[in-house]
Amino acid sequence: MRIENDVKLDFKDVLIRPKRSKLASRSVVDLQRTFTFKNTKREWTGIPIIAANMDTTGTFEMAEVFMKHKMIVALHKHYPAEQLINFFNKHTVEELSYVFYSIGMIEQDKEKLKTVLAKIDHNKLQHICIDVANGYSETFADFVRSIRHDFPDKTIMAGNVVTGEMVEALVLAGADIVKVGIGPGSVCTTRKMTGVGYPQLSAIIECADAAHGMGAQICGDSGLTMPGDFGKAFGAGADFVMSGTMFAGHDEAFGEIIEHDNKKFKPYYGMSSDTAMNKYSGGVAEYRASEGKTVEVPYKGAVDKTIQQILGGLRSTCTYVGAERLKDLSKCTTFICVNNHHNTLHGDAS
Ligand code: 5GP
Repeated sequence: MRIENDVKLDFKDVLIRPKRSKLASRSVVDLQRTFTFKNTKREWTGIPIIAANMDTTGTFEMAEVFMKHKMIVALHKHYPAEQLINFFNKHTVEELSYVFYSIGMIEQDKEKLKTVLAKIDHNKLQHICIDVANGYSETFADFVRSIRHDFPDKTIMAGNVVTGEMVEALVLAGADIVKVGIGPGSVCTTRKMTGVGYPQLSAIIECADAAHGMGAQICGDSGLTMPGDFGKAFGAGADFVMSGTMFAGHDEAFGEIIEHDNKKFKPYYGMSSDTAMNKYSGGVAEYRASEGKTVEVPYKGAVDKTIQQILGGLRSTCTYVGAERLKDLSKCTTFICVNNHHNTLHGDAS
């Protein structure tokens, strides 16, 4: 047994210190970034914010709005092949550069991917998100290696992990982007059920350092609860930021509107919650407990309005620290610690 005494931080533990700035207005801030992916050498330009590959937020409807903003949706992996084929055939290569195709670590997902690719223009499916709850198993790195081998021209985002050495292992296995976050999700109960986790801001800082040293990128995934958290995540060094919570509850999210007490809500649940497992896997397998929960989030109307708020907030963060481009935000960021008790059950506070 060992104890690490270093301070580890979550979003709520810090604020960003304002700095003298030459920027006249937030409207001059450029939120687009251009990355050349390590393995594919493919260049991508856009606003690096991703709606999570959960069946509530990773929907076609969400993708159709996000692509107009040059923002990304990682489609959830439960769409049938036919629907995916229709979606990819309907949109242009340019539009689909803002779409990730998600798979888990199972052969059926790989087979479905091959079926879809056989029925669409190969160039349309550009990015693959390989998503598992625990990216630490050796079989996961092997799986990433096999996808890299079978699909050499596709950008691969793989995760989730929270420490530098595992970022390196996944990049060596063929990932271009490593997805970072274990435990901070709003509908995630991993910290509660297993005691495992890592404060998300520190995970981003440490993993970004490891990835950037290898010419790769990271995506900070989960734990954002307000527009300002995007500024903190990018300020910490995230190249991409993924959220479910911030995009749940909108018209474009899956689920019927629920009404009670004269208020409107929509369902939001973890992909390993009882709700998702009953829907897709015929119940929770005996050997595992569900590590996700089901909640109702306030109904928020069209996602366009929320996107405007997030992008407005992010532009303003950049203005406060003198970053003309999102690319410069991290080097312009100084965090101030504002909480004394750091390592709480942030994701499960409710
Ligand atoms: P949020 O934006 O709600 O804080 O986090 C969304 C993220 O939570 C997803 O991108 C994914 O990484 C994670 N997640 C989704 N479903 C589950 C689940 O059932 N259990 C756990 N532990 N994490 C989940």
